[in-house]
Amino acid sequence: MTPATKAAKKPARKKTANPLSPERVAAIFDALQKAYPNAVCALNHRNAFELTIATILSAQTTDVGVNKVTPELFRMYPTPKKLAEAPLPELERIIRATGFYRAKAKNIQGAARVLVEKFGGKVPQTIDELTQLPGVARKTANVVLGSWYGIASGIVVDTHVGRLSRRLGLTTQTDPVKIERDLEQVIPQDHWIQFSHELIHHGRQVCIARKPRCVDCSLEKLCNAVDKTWSSDHLSGPR
Ligand code: SF4
Repeated sequence: MTPATKAAKKPARKKTANPLSPERVAAIFDALQKAYPNAVCALNHRNAFELTIATILSAQTTDVGVNKVTPELFRMYPTPKKLAEAPLPELERIIRATGFYRAKAKNIQGAARVLVEKFGGKVPQTIDELTQLPGVARKTANVVLGSWYGIASGIVVDTHVGRLSRRLGLTTQTDPVKIERDLEQVIPQDHWIQFSHELIHHGRQVCIARKPRCVDCSLEKLCNAVDKTWSSDHLSGPR
């Protein structure tokens, strides 16, 4: 039996009376803020247009992978108008490494066209308007509103935010829209933007999907996840 299996089979630490209590949620914020004081969106961008396009491209791939293709893309097509008029095969060539490149090329060009035709070439500042762009659902809209405009319209729920929110007992849902609703009930709105950035960093660096590095986790004492790979219980005695 591996140490990880052992930890998973151990009786879970006595559960916090209320995992959603404001005190516990505040302790989670504090630990995350100390661990990631400068957490920002990892997609390289210089304006709202670039962030919108980069976020569309980030579906089903890594931000690092997107950052490799966007310099050429934005050098050749730096504005919505230029991207709207680009030859589709050329877009496909540039973004090919991000996967699903045919669909993504259509989406980014479609988004650029809608920006030009409906919004005067400017990226709008509401969820309802942003989700009219091809390839833009709530998650992408929340990324653009939060990271570029500083508008906390919702909480970005990507795969990391979903997984960590469940492990931390902040939701039991798996559907991103339902997770977002649950989080909005317990996270004060002025933390919405930063909270997602911090959880995404924590999910990439420590609370990874298959084998979380609980021994290195600053949230460990607050966490009752069933798939923890290490617990400080034996160090601190009964709680
Ligand atoms: S203790 Fe483990 S499972 Fe819990 S948040 Fe930290 S890394 Fe994730």
